[in-house]
Amino acid sequence: MSLLEVEGIDALYGDSHVLFDVSLRVEQNEVVALLGRNGAGKTTTLRTLMGVLKPRTGAIRLAGLPIHGLPPARIARAGMQLVPEERAVFGGLTVEENLRVARLTAGKPWPLDRIWEVFPRLKERRASRGRTLSGGEQQMLSIARALIRDPTLLLLDEPFEGLAPLIVLDLVALTRRLAAEGRTIVIVEQNVSAVLDLADRVYGFNNGHIVYEGQAADLRANPAPMRGFMGLA
Ligand code: ATP
Repeated sequence: MSLLEVEGIDALYGDSHVLFDVSLRVEQNEVVALLGRNGAGKTTTLRTLMGVLKPRTGAIRLAGLPIHGLPPARIARAGMQLVPEERAVFGGLTVEENLRVARLTAGKPWPLDRIWEVFPRLKERRASRGRTLSGGEQQMLSIARALIRDPTLLLLDEPFEGLAPLIVLDLVALTRRLAAEGRTIVIVEQNVSAVLDLADRVYGFNNGHIVYEGQAADLRANPAPMRGFMGLA
């Protein structure tokens, strides 16, 4: 049994049909990248997995448990966490308060010390308000708020967007460490070289359809198939 099984999902915003018959699977300990042009349906897929958007048809199972139709809070308790594109940080709360709030409703949250060990920079800034953090620090806090809830499946939506190259390198190293520690990750990212470096497997999206599935190593060796869903290579 795969950790995540998605079968034949269709999703709509009002009358606008955005996802068509999307099926995918994610194995325990895998890092899976969703690639595609802007508007291809990647963010909508993550929102549908998390229950923010209800699929019109199809099934989603997390560790065998059907989760489609459940509210996001229930899906979070089942072990999924979404780090959205717009960073999930309370600007008026300190770093530590942001983390304490995230722990409140978690089943088995991490102790703060474990977060400080993974994110020493956040420890240094623990008393600073969210709004005073740099973009990279806010992204770290956003990821830390998800991690502190100890998810079995972490969904990252464009975590490297708008960040300086050196910060991206830090976050790539962090993501690799989380994967090495056995966390399962689904990542949406426009930074193709960074994500191909991280991912085990890739799904390519085009106009709301999955048009490609393959090993990241194969795309690194031969990027030609990406022309079909990225318009590059
Ligand atoms: P991006 O990198 O731009 O986020 P994406 O592949 O994640 O691209 P989605 O954000 O999933 O794409 O968008 C898929 C389609 O759904 C697009 O045509 C988009 O305009 C539309 N869409 C996204 N959000 C909404 C919304 N809240 N209401 C209506 N249509 C939406």
